[in-house]
Amino acid sequence: MNDLGALSDRARSAAVVAAAHADDVDSCARFPTETIDALKEHRLLGLLVPVHLDGPGAPLADAAMVCRILGQACGSSALIYAMHQIQVACLVAAVGGSEWQDEFLRRVASEQLLLASVTSEVGIGGNIRSSLCAPDYLDDRLTLSKRSSAISYGEHADALLVTARRNTEASSSDQILIVAERTDTSLTETSRWDTLGMRGTDSKAFDVSLSARPAQIVPLPFGDIAQHTMLPTSHILWGSVWLGIATDATEKARAFLRRQAQTNPGSLPPGAVRLEKAVSMLTSMRARLDCATGEYLSIRISDREALPLGFLAEVNGLKIALSEAALEVVQQAMLICGIAGYKYGTPYSIGRHLRDLHSAPLMVNNDRIAANTATLLVAQRAPLMRG
Ligand SMILES: Cc1cc2nc3c(=O)[nH]c(=O)nc-3n(C[C@H](O)[C@H](O)[C@H](O)COP(=O)(O)OP(=O)(O)OC[C@H]3O[C@@H](n4cnc5c(N)ncnc54)[C@H](O)[C@@H]3O)c2cc1C
Repeated sequence: MNDLGALSDRARSAAVVAAAHADDVDSCARFPTETIDALKEHRLLGLLVPVHLDGPGAPLADAAMVCRILGQACGSSALIYAMHQIQVACLVAAVGGSEWQDEFLRRVASEQLLLASVTSEVGIGGNIRSSLCAPDYLDDRLTLSKRSSAISYGEHADALLVTARRNTEASSSDQILIVAERTDTSLTETSRWDTLGMRGTDSKAFDVSLSARPAQIVPLPFGDIAQHTMLPTSHILWGSVWLGIATDATEKARAFLRRQAQTNPGSLPPGAVRLEKAVSMLTSMRARLDCATGEYLSIRISDREALPLGFLAEVNGLKIALSEAALEVVQQAMLICGIAGYKYGTPYSIGRHLRDLHSAPLMVNNDRIAANTATLLVAQRAPLMRG
């Protein structure tokens, strides 16, 4: 299962399906059912589930590769896959702490369950490290009501990972993460998802009401999970999606230039120098992603231990840099393709790519991340560069 060749083939098969439906998914702002079915068929949803829980136990780099391949086909499908794998990674980080959750992870692999995230909440802005809602505990169950401002593919997920305060006495930062099964959760839509880009993620706002057993609370404080797993995996997997989208736009620009070169043999098309810049930026994005992914895997620390401040600053910088670079690459591609890229329905259309990528600096807002990074850098005692 972990053979990279076979994995990339499976990802490419799913990407063919995603590409075939990408424009319809975008124009109708609809969930990419066909892609998710293909990902399930190719057993790609349980990729990170450990071997002892009957999963393939693939490393994060494999999930990043799938995100990149899907990103070249359909940005919304790729982002859904990334968001799902971030949730799986959070559960894998707590493996062994709860029988219910280990059994649930087994099901993620065997039944190819799709997991969604409910961190955002009306009244807290984009600060995922703060919650207003808190569960009520009665007998052997808990109930929770949460006003969420965005839940991607909430109605299509098999389970939702929901943040809340630990109890009604807890402070806003004393948070837990609850695995809520869709069958025990009701979603009341409170706003539509009619957006510039990432339209297929179907990220509507909902009032959420759920019932769960206490065993469904992830057995680590959410603050630890957020810092140790959710933040680095989000930035690495989102970055991989954006790299994929920017790569596809650059391929379209390259095809456009090759057609121009065939029409006028012997002369370099005027836009070709922009291709060099775009490819150079893609290479830098890839190198930075590979470096952060390798470093994250090699840190190999216990789940309760904090990541080094320097590494947290690095993965925060990765998110900001990649979200900005991807947009710039597509801008270069647009200038190369001109009106053929600007128009929909040509072989060089890249409007969807550009619109999808405008979500990147907002998810979580780059200004918020920059402020957090600056705090880390001021607090850090170790030198910025070693050696
Ligand atoms: C495509 C997409 C899918 C999403 N899917 C989900 C999902 O599945 N589940 C989910 O829970 N959420 C989801 N979200 C929501 C997302 O995670 C963020 O919560 C949301 O984008 C932030 O909302 P905001 O821009 O209103 O808030 P903010 O981040 O608060 O930003 C609003 C403004 O405040 C400024 N600001 C606020 N605080 C600071 C600060 N400390 N430092 C500097 N500036 C600050 C920002 O610069 C910005 O101008 C999704 C968002 C998108 C775009």
